[in-house]
Amino acid sequence: MSNKPEFEYDLIVIGAGSGGVRASRIAAGYGAKVAVIEESRPGGTCVIRGCVPKKLLVYGASFADEFADSAGFGWKIEGTSHDWGALIEAKNIEIDRLEGIYRNLIKNAGADLFEGRGVLTGPNSVEVNGKKLTADKILIAVGGWPQLPDVPGLKEAAITSNEALDLKTRPDEIVIYGSGYIALEFAGIFNGLGSVVHLVYRGDKPLRGFDEDVRTHITEALQNRGIKLHAEQTITAVSEQSGKKHVELSGGEILICDTIMAATGRVPNTASLGLETVGVDVNKKGAIQVDHNSQTNIASIFAVGDATDRVNLTPVALNEGHIFADRYFGNVERSMQYNNIPSAVFSQPPIASVGMTEEEASQTFSEVTVFDSRFKAMRATLSGRDERTFMKLIVETATDKVVGVHMVGPDAAEIMQGIAIAVKMGATKADFDATIGIHPSAAEEFVTMRTPRKKV
Ligand code: NDP
Repeated sequence: MSNKPEFEYDLIVIGAGSGGVRASRIAAGYGAKVAVIEESRPGGTCVIRGCVPKKLLVYGASFADEFADSAGFGWKIEGTSHDWGALIEAKNIEIDRLEGIYRNLIKNAGADLFEGRGVLTGPNSVEVNGKKLTADKILIAVGGWPQLPDVPGLKEAAITSNEALDLKTRPDEIVIYGSGYIALEFAGIFNGLGSVVHLVYRGDKPLRGFDEDVRTHITEALQNRGIKLHAEQTITAVSEQSGKKHVELSGGEILICDTIMAATGRVPNTASLGLETVGVDVNKKGAIQVDHNSQTNIASIFAVGDATDRVNLTPVALNEGHIFADRYFGNVERSMQYNNIPSAVFSQPPIASVGMTEEEASQTFSEVTVFDSRFKAMRATLSGRDERTFMKLIVETATDKVVGVHMVGPDAAEIMQGIAIAVKMGATKADFDATIGIHPSAAEEFVTMRTPRKKV
């Protein structure tokens, strides 16, 4: 590919996270001359302070269940204890290794990495470390950042998921504000490792937007596991007294804890990026406005991932970055499909879904048929764990198409990935029924549900 003579690069990517690095590598693979700018550590949110370290901590916490359940199978495990510092140290070594891999991906693709903050100075120019770089196209992939509500004392006292992954010691008692993905995942981590966990949220149940039955089921499961739920509450003030945090709730209760964590959503990390200077459209939340090709109102500037606040998931950013590079550097016409994107909440127990909730399906189709199942997994018979697995299929009655699948229970994410292929392909309930189960497994329940739930 030949450079336009007036520009130093074909592509400048701001942000070396999942979306940015994927786009850089693919564009460079097509022969583009690429510069990548990163102000923190290559790898971005997912690798450095999100999905990956979080999942390592989820694994760490999940051994608590293994130890507890093993007794029913004859194991005598005594005197278990957990060394938080050792877990964090091991996690950090792994994250350093992955950062190295990301650096190599950029280098081996032949792209130039600039470490510093990139600021747009024109439709084709970016300044980094006082140096001006120019390119035919600019891709913004700067991700998101935690947002905290304006509550007296909260910003000063609270940590976010960024710091929660690097605490020096595990809190004895923690208040987590919010009940979305991050709140539930960290509630499971700290609860599993022995902290007293309070979850404070303004809704009647956690996980607004999820299927109502899933919300009900996870509420019971969290309560069963000893997480203290404070529903329909907001935090009105936070203060520090004698080394403890005093967290005042709207209902009048005061929770006293060592650590307060805000998991109250994330916003695009687009402030002071020069977007106003160049005239790139953003919405009220700061999300860069793009069309279906990830192109902004400025023809040479594009954006992918959480910076655009479309579907804020790593695999979505990866795909958006890949499709952008394919389209503009490889002449491959593809566009991103945002329907039937599976996702999981790595809470304990985990949750996974693909497609519509029952509420969405009921609003979309004239009639839906629902199949659901709550059962004690085989392992729980001997372990004695008083927790049920929940599975649900939502079918459009007229076409027999499965339009939503939900699960709460062990291995939900692993199971849902395969189910998502079937849903994406348009599988019908008859296709599910014609599939032979793997016995004995929890997953087979998805192909053996025969009796629809009674319509109310
Ligand atoms: P979510 O949007 O999932 O949840 C935010 C929570 O904060 C909600 O409970 C929300 O309440 C609450 N909240 C927001 N504003 C306020 C406020 N002013 N006062 C009180 N409560 C408030 O955000 P997360 O931070 O958990 O995660 C961000 C995104 O990152 C997710 O949506 C997801 O896209 C992604 N993610 C994905 C993961 C995965 O795939 N496993 C893991 C982690 C993150 P309400 O519902 O009432 O608005």
